[in-house]
Amino acid sequence: MRNVKYGKCVRCGRTYEAKPDLTNCECGGILDIVYDYDYIKSVLTKEKLAARKNYTMWRYRELLPVEETTPDTPLRVGWSPLYEAGRLAEQLGLGKLWIKDDGINPTASLKDRASAMAVAKAGEAGAKVIACSSTGNAASSLAGNAAAAGFETYIFVPSRAPKGKVAQLMTFGAHVISVQGSYEDTFELSKQAIDRWGWYNRNAAINPYLSEGKKTVALEIMEQLNWEVPDYIAISVGDGCTIAGLWKGLKDLYAIGFIDRLPRLISAQAEGCCPLNRAIEENQPWHPMEENTLADSIAVGVPRNADKALMAIRESNGLTVNVSDQEIMAAQKMLGSACGVFGEPAGVTGAAGLKKLCEQGKLEKDARVVSVVTGNGLKDVANAIKACGEPISIPSDMNLLLKAFEEHGIEVE
Ligand SMILES: *Cc1c(COP(=O)(O)O)cnc(C)c1O
Ligand SMILES: [Zn+2]
Repeated sequence: MRNVKYGKCVRCGRTYEAKPDLTNCECGGILDIVYDYDYIKSVLTKEKLAARKNYTMWRYRELLPVEETTPDTPLRVGWSPLYEAGRLAEQLGLGKLWIKDDGINPTASLKDRASAMAVAKAGEAGAKVIACSSTGNAASSLAGNAAAAGFETYIFVPSRAPKGKVAQLMTFGAHVISVQGSYEDTFELSKQAIDRWGWYNRNAAINPYLSEGKKTVALEIMEQLNWEVPDYIAISVGDGCTIAGLWKGLKDLYAIGFIDRLPRLISAQAEGCCPLNRAIEENQPWHPMEENTLADSIAVGVPRNADKALMAIRESNGLTVNVSDQEIMAAQKMLGSACGVFGEPAGVTGAAGLKKLCEQGKLEKDARVVSVVTGNGLKDVANAIKACGEPISIPSDMNLLLKAFEEHGIEVE
């Protein structure tokens, strides 16, 4: 890889040759992939990018840690829409608001960006089997992207994973182990199994390439905004890999001169599970928390990408915001009804946090903000119904329809 220098430990600074099966540093720290930005500048220009017809995450190859000979992964990951949400911006008192809907990815979450990267790297490593533990979306995205590319998968999920995600796993033909315990318990078992059988490891806690896949969401946002940097980008945070990837993408673009400043990140967590935000707010090392939230994808009591995530929030002079399950459900309804975007609970937590910060007057009135929806609502229909209610249910009778409209206070024009 001409564009990559090495992997560098974010804790002790030790460097490692960027082999495809790179894992953690000897000290236990996670690695960051370091690029040769001078080389990248010499091969990538905005004009070259603009002329490119490849509308997937692989359009940014010069900025990605893959060999030139490694094929694009088969599913169409990335280039998700960035919708301008004018009415919602007005409602929230923002200058401009865009919704980046990553729920439209092939397995319906932002995790496809990391899983496609894992599949590409597993191919380079000559692996036949890929494994991971996941709150659900990393699992379903790995299962789907691996199935398309012809890999076998072993997947560990906590037993609370919503049915929609489990259905995806079964459909994609993964070996699925539903672990009766927390996400932490799930992670531990997957680690032991991976050590024992030597599978390619797609755990974001260990594999430094995954946040490089996730960073493509930032590259896209900036290209879609014609390189005009927003003031804030709001996103939900669990393990921390996603926000770290988002920040990495922004810093890459800054380093190669595609953008001239950096936005502030808004890190949104659930009140019932916010170890990373708490660490920032109290300016303390993070401490494990219970996993008390319906937003299953961000119910991570022991975040494995804490180092990178905390660094991203701090370096960006970011804001933290913790939201209740009620506020998450309200955001589901808000995005659905104001923008036509259906997010799962963790998918809309960034928007829930943004709404809360606006209500608290913490953002400037003319602020320009991007809110990333990280996962699709169809993955967790039960919670969507809980958030938005049941429909009017009547027999096929016009009089009953009139009566129902009256009862619900619906005035038909
Ligand atoms: C995984 C996930 C997140 C959070 O990403 P982390 O890397 O765990 O911080 C947010 N939303 C959805 C829908 C996810 O699947
Ligand atoms: Zn180290």
